[in-house]
Amino acid sequence: MGPLQIKELLQQTPDAKSVTLKGWVRTKRESKNAIFIALNDGSTIHNIQAVAAPGQFSAELLLTVTTGSCLKITGQLVASQGSGQAVEVKIDDIFVYGTADVDSYPLQPKRHSLEFLREIAHLRPRTNTFGAILRIRHSLAFAVHQYFNEKGFFYLHTPIITASDAEGAGEMFRVTTLDLDKLPRTDEGVINFKEDFFGREANLTVSGQLEGELGAMALSKIYTFGPTFRAENSNTTRHLAEFWMIEPEMAFFELEDNMELAEDFVKYVIRYALENCKDDLAFLENRLAEEDKNKPQNERSIPLLEKLNFVVENAFERLTYTEAIDILLKSKPHKEKKFQYPVGWGIDLSSEHERYLVEKHFKKPVILTNYPREIKSFYMKLDDDGKTVRAMDVLFPGIGEIIGGSQREDNYEKLLERVHEVGIDPEVIWWYLETRKFGTAPHSGFGLGFERLVLFVTGMSNIRDVIPFPRYPKSAEF
Ligand code: ATP
Ligand code: MN
Repeated sequence: MGPLQIKELLQQTPDAKSVTLKGWVRTKRESKNAIFIALNDGSTIHNIQAVAAPGQFSAELLLTVTTGSCLKITGQLVASQGSGQAVEVKIDDIFVYGTADVDSYPLQPKRHSLEFLREIAHLRPRTNTFGAILRIRHSLAFAVHQYFNEKGFFYLHTPIITASDAEGAGEMFRVTTLDLDKLPRTDEGVINFKEDFFGREANLTVSGQLEGELGAMALSKIYTFGPTFRAENSNTTRHLAEFWMIEPEMAFFELEDNMELAEDFVKYVIRYALENCKDDLAFLENRLAEEDKNKPQNERSIPLLEKLNFVVENAFERLTYTEAIDILLKSKPHKEKKFQYPVGWGIDLSSEHERYLVEKHFKKPVILTNYPREIKSFYMKLDDDGKTVRAMDVLFPGIGEIIGGSQREDNYEKLLERVHEVGIDPEVIWWYLETRKFGTAPHSGFGLGFERLVLFVTGMSNIRDVIPFPRYPKSAEF
């Protein structure tokens, strides 16, 4: 099935057997005694070195072998003369699949800024940095499925087109087949969505949770892992308009079980990356260290592997929202009025507050629980005091919120009351409410933004750089 990948070839014994390489040229170097071609096929961060003798190939052919061109090389796998690699290929023949004109191919071998690479998202997977990120992203996704499978969860495919914005999680993208130039109107003059494709207003999902809960109330433990859309016009380094969310939902789990699962799950997938993405992580760690050289000592980051190992090896700090507010009120930046946003019981913590708790105060991931009901979603279970809900946010260094979750309200009357309170029409989510009428049970779940996880593991600083083709305001080119 296809040729051996470079990753596999690099691990073989150099016994002069005949091999075929297929890949893209990273560099070509000509010296007096030899011509060196570094070839990469994306299977690994490492290139394989292919060597030809001067005069072995015509100048005409060699002119087409340039950075970015795609080749098939046949030759013999031999022990490398040079340092840096164990094996290399002594070239017998070169076939050029496709050339890459030196004057127009943008990825010449030099350092490119991440901003520039975003403009050439169709080519950036061919760089070392993005190759590493994409391979790590794959491994993390694989680990997610492996974890839940091992723990007896079922992968539930929740809809991408939904008719409910019950979550109120953010602005939604509308889905319609109506002719925008000739919108049908009712007698009252409002748009008549009865004539739209679904006979009602429809949007792209902001979360699979509500449907996920329906699955949990039958299969006990489910998870979703799918695309999620939020038309939030926030141009931050942590928000995308299209991202991937992982949402486990478990019957018979209370808030404590939910926290236990979230911590165990995140540690598992990070550990998986540590064990299976060693070369790519080492490359990214070096890259960060290089970047840090230009920064003052106190702004330098902890080495990537040290940071990841620390998270895997240490228990997350757990405290309530109320305790967190107390810490913030007693904090130096609060007393010195250094926070941009005010602190007080009832506020929605902003990123600066979350990061103070995680990075300055506890210096480790934090799970905050029992938030004021006013700032959290209607479906979260009310605490006995009636003031807070059984919510939990997991906060990570450098990122802030990576997971948001809760124990769900399982009491029909209380849930209905909250639905009215926040102004949702109960008719629209009658099916959701019915789970509380028919065989209700305590249950919990959470949502992990997959790109925020990839951001953390790769040590990148902009979420647009950890998804192949990012979607954000004014950008959907590729
Ligand atoms: P934030 O306050 O950071 O905007 P949120 O409270 O809106 O997050 P939730 O609705 O709880 O987030 O969604 C669950 C998880 O999905 C978050 O913890 C985060 O990891 C991720 N997430 C939310 N919005 C985005 C986005 N626009 N882009 C990427 N990931 C996101
Ligand atoms: Mn948000």
